[in-house]
Amino acid sequence: MTDPLAASRLTIDLDAIAENWRILRDQATHGQCAAVVKGNAYGLGAAPVAQALAAAGCRLFFVAHLAEGIALRAALGSTFEGAGIEIAVLNGVLPHQAAAFAAHDLIPVLNDAGQVAEWLAWCRSHGAARPAILHVDTGMNRLGLRPAEFDDLIEHGDVAEYPWRLVMTHLACADDRDHPMNQEQRQRFAAVRARLPAVPASLAASSGVFLGPDFHADLLRPGVALYGVNPAPWMANPMRQVVELSTQILQVRSIDRGEAVGYGATHRMERDGRIATLAYGYSDGYIRSGSGRGTLYLAGHALPIVGRISMDLITVDASAVPESLLHPGAWVEILGPHRSVDTMARDLGTIGYEVLNLLGQRAARTYRGAVAMGEEGAG
Ligand SMILES: *Cc1c(COP(=O)(O)O)cnc(C)c1O
Repeated sequence: MTDPLAASRLTIDLDAIAENWRILRDQATHGQCAAVVKGNAYGLGAAPVAQALAAAGCRLFFVAHLAEGIALRAALGSTFEGAGIEIAVLNGVLPHQAAAFAAHDLIPVLNDAGQVAEWLAWCRSHGAARPAILHVDTGMNRLGLRPAEFDDLIEHGDVAEYPWRLVMTHLACADDRDHPMNQEQRQRFAAVRARLPAVPASLAASSGVFLGPDFHADLLRPGVALYGVNPAPWMANPMRQVVELSTQILQVRSIDRGEAVGYGATHRMERDGRIATLAYGYSDGYIRSGSGRGTLYLAGHALPIVGRISMDLITVDASAVPESLLHPGAWVEILGPHRSVDTMARDLGTIGYEVLNLLGQRAARTYRGAVAMGEEGAG
């Protein structure tokens, strides 16, 4: 059961996540769609999210860290044994980690010549060419082989002939449809693919999917769109909303025109009115850059945030809300039908990715959906 005494509640709709995966898969030119569940599935819980996606038919998952991969393999293990589920680790294989990858049946994404050498040496000494992904950097300069490095490596027969599971690259500017980097990276990647014609290729994360079929290659690699964030800011959000977050009113007070609210007295009432104080703050992940910005909702009535966000408290102007609704313990929507993750991100001056990762650090979590594994604490 959800802790009935918790002051905030986070509901995660696993059916909506599975539906979002199907929407993305149905876009894929070649019908292949993986799922990125790094960072504990963008804060929403890697185990329940991956279980729901595996049940929906997803067979390849990406995490960032080796430890995340080991935990995910265990979480999927018994239920999906024999289903051929693959787990790839984006950060790749650091020295002396190859054995752990093999032991837990994980696929490294090899990001530089050192990682390639480490992996091939381990495979040679163990007599098995275990699956691995080659990541070529086409302009982002974050992770991946530089194109010249790739060209050098591919001159060696053992790299050219290795049975790579996938060759991939990552777009730096896909959320800006008209950015020239998109075409530049696509062209550089086409040259890479031409040197490994038999190897499946992956280019698009969430936003790349909506740049069109030229960007789909063989396999899509979405993360944030699965969780309901709009991957294509130039159009209406094609994804279903996944999270709802609410918190409780602690206290309501009437105050006079000219009175101040909160730390720093940054807000002054323009007329007599009412302030409601809510049980949520930056310690719950509502970062302080949201001070004085954005609107929460009580039964559909707008509650503009006024004054600074405190560690455990938010103050809202409740002057326009019927008094009968304003009582301690009443639930206020932070995210839900009236306010999307993207809207909250705009209010905080950040992106939906970060909002999801910050959510519900204290909130009681409920997973909703056909394959929900029940309910968990804030974990
Ligand atoms: C995080 C990540 C993704 C997923 O990105 P989204 O924008 O969340 O879809 C895909 N590929 C790589 C290499 C990543 O780091």
